[in-house]
Amino acid sequence: MSHIFPRSMKSSPPMAVGGKGCYLFDASGKQYLDASGGAAVSCLGHGDTTVINAIKAQLDTLAYAHTGFFTSEPAEKLADLLIEHAPSTLDRVYLVSGGSEAAEAAIKLARQYFVEKGEPKRGRLIARKQSYHGNTIGALSAGGNEWRRAQFAPLLLDMSHIDPCYPYRLQNEGESDADYGLRSANLLEQELLRVGPETVMAFMAEPVVGATAGAVAPAPGYFKRIREICDQYGILLILDEVMCGMGRTGTLFACEQDGVAPDILCIAKGLGAGYQPIGAMLCSSQIYDTIGAGSGFFQHGHTYMGHPTAAAAALAVVNSVLDRGLLKAVQKQGDALKLALNERFVQHANVGDIRGRGLFLGLELVTDRGTKAPFDPAHKLAAKIKAAAFDAGLICYPMSGTIDGKTGDHILLAPPFIIEDAQITELVDKLSGAIEVSLPG
Ligand code: PMP
Repeated sequence: MSHIFPRSMKSSPPMAVGGKGCYLFDASGKQYLDASGGAAVSCLGHGDTTVINAIKAQLDTLAYAHTGFFTSEPAEKLADLLIEHAPSTLDRVYLVSGGSEAAEAAIKLARQYFVEKGEPKRGRLIARKQSYHGNTIGALSAGGNEWRRAQFAPLLLDMSHIDPCYPYRLQNEGESDADYGLRSANLLEQELLRVGPETVMAFMAEPVVGATAGAVAPAPGYFKRIREICDQYGILLILDEVMCGMGRTGTLFACEQDGVAPDILCIAKGLGAGYQPIGAMLCSSQIYDTIGAGSGFFQHGHTYMGHPTAAAAALAVVNSVLDRGLLKAVQKQGDALKLALNERFVQHANVGDIRGRGLFLGLELVTDRGTKAPFDPAHKLAAKIKAAAFDAGLICYPMSGTIDGKTGDHILLAPPFIIEDAQITELVDKLSGAIEVSLPG
């Protein structure tokens, strides 16, 4: 009997024993095309020798030193590299071990900043429905995924959740993209005025929404207007690029494409590419210097933060993305995958929307393209597609999302940046088969 506490207690997953490029292998020898990079993690694919050698070299030098006593060369170099390429507002890097830790640190940093700035009334975070920022209590409170939150409601912090910018479902008939972007962003101002702007510390959002919505990019102008509102009311903008960052959308930082620079930014997943657990919170010098001139100490921290081996892995990952021309590859293969999905599904009665940026793409499934009516949640379509795809040797990331009690099914695709044309064909063929066998009657 296994003593592992698995994610699902109703099934025992096969044992993964190896990986090469875009493929994973289980103990029976079965091969899986990793079309979601796990959960948008494995951006370089599996078995990347550059990253593996960087990890080995770091282990031979120094595996770990506690950040309460030391900094380390890979952590310093990684911070320099990230800031060299980050939006101009960002100046400091706080290294942690994953996405939830980065989100949690962002929320606490925003709060401490306002306390030290002499604005202690500012304690409220405004985030969005249909979003995910992590599973720890603070990050879960910020997220708007109803299913993930439901049973923990008594433990969660009081935060505001406005409607997301979700063109497929929330843009009005005949409304231009730009008008919708503006109207959707103005929901932030309405909420600020409702709760009292002097009580709000920050607005937090994913530039391209991942796990809860299936690669939903904002309408044009949305984040520019959000930035204006944040500045007007003196609140911070926190962008969560844990899933969509580090090249996944075709630029190193997803927000570059919206022409917006946040005060705090979170990254993880593609930063370590699966080779080491690592995440980071980047912040502006304004925040850093305010706390620096005050208590001089961010009252937060984790034992494994700034881990030298994880930092060495991330340094090799980011350098590989930049030096091997992988941002260009994401743009090119992202276009190719989107085209292939459109060719296959554009007439499909049950594929309502094909969307996303770069190699971060999503499909939304509906009973009818005209009415956009979602499937009955009792059918568990997303779970069925995941299982059918896995049987066929395809790893994709189907999920059910909910806004105001209405559930919809979507599939997230986030393959490694090294995906080749033949693998795009394999992906679309297997996905198409999995959808067909999973649709009701
Ligand atoms: N933020 C976003 C946008 C995410 O997609 C995730 C993970 N799916 C997290 C935060 C949490 O990251 P982790 O699972 O590494 O804690």
